[in-house]
Amino acid sequence: MNYRHAYHAGNFADVFKHILIARMVDYLKRKDKAFRVYDLHAGLGVYSLEAEEAGKTEEWKAGIGALLAANIPSEHKKILGDYLDVVHAFGEKAYPGSPMVARKLLRKQDRLSLYELHPDDAPILNQNFAGDYQTRVNTLDGWLVPGAHVPPKEARGMMLIDPPFEDGKDFDRMIDAMEKARHRWAGGTVALWYPVKRRDHTDEWLGSLRERGFDDLMSFEIYIREPRPSSLLNGCGMVIANAPYTLRDEMGRLLPWLSGVLKQGKGAGHRIQNLSKS
Ligand code: SAM
Repeated sequence: MNYRHAYHAGNFADVFKHILIARMVDYLKRKDKAFRVYDLHAGLGVYSLEAEEAGKTEEWKAGIGALLAANIPSEHKKILGDYLDVVHAFGEKAYPGSPMVARKLLRKQDRLSLYELHPDDAPILNQNFAGDYQTRVNTLDGWLVPGAHVPPKEARGMMLIDPPFEDGKDFDRMIDAMEKARHRWAGGTVALWYPVKRRDHTDEWLGSLRERGFDDLMSFEIYIREPRPSSLLNGCGMVIANAPYTLRDEMGRLLPWLSGVLKQGKGAGHRIQNLSKS
């Protein structure tokens, strides 16, 4: 396990992913009934933007740095509000990872289950949530969750699957995880984050998901430059099963603007697709 998220925290992909998480949690809060958030690849929970790793890449500058420097039109302030409140709560020198974005938006009745396997990162994650009775940190393989740990006793909730893509197998693992999660927890929201380098590769994978015939499956993508053949991370996306019905409209309005703020070259943009069979 070589991947360390500390090098990438706060980059454009984190901004995109964490905005979507905040919107999904907000939607779950529309009902009083408790819910659970599963984060299968949690990372550290919070990252120092002054750490050596962040300083080496400075990826956060074109991510959360660019968003915080932007003049946010009032029509987007409501969509971004919860996310930005969490970001501001950590100050200018730190950036919250997905576990903290979710945790800060939970109510008393809601719960968070985190999974992190890296031997150096898991203890730090544990420490960041020490004494928090609403959060459970598991030093376990997150890929076990869809086939064994759901549904939660709360019945309602969401699952984030955000693996490191260190080997070529995570794309297949995600399809398998989606299948298991849908089978065991049909009512849960399942979100798969994925990198976009070459769009033809992305489209092949999205095609495989479409062929599985899942109900209510959408993909949301952002590009910081044209997704052409390249070894660069040109964009990223999230496939969501059981997405809030409000999300398509919200992202349809936000992403054209956000891709302009986060752009790093020609051809920045976004794409939203329905991947359901029917
Ligand atoms: N979700 C985090 C966020 O948005 O702040 C970032 C997660 S990072 C992309 C992927 C994380 O998954 C790494 O910290 C890595 O150590 C961890 N990881 C890799 N394989 C894992 C596994 N099988 N189970 C749990 N965690 C794993």
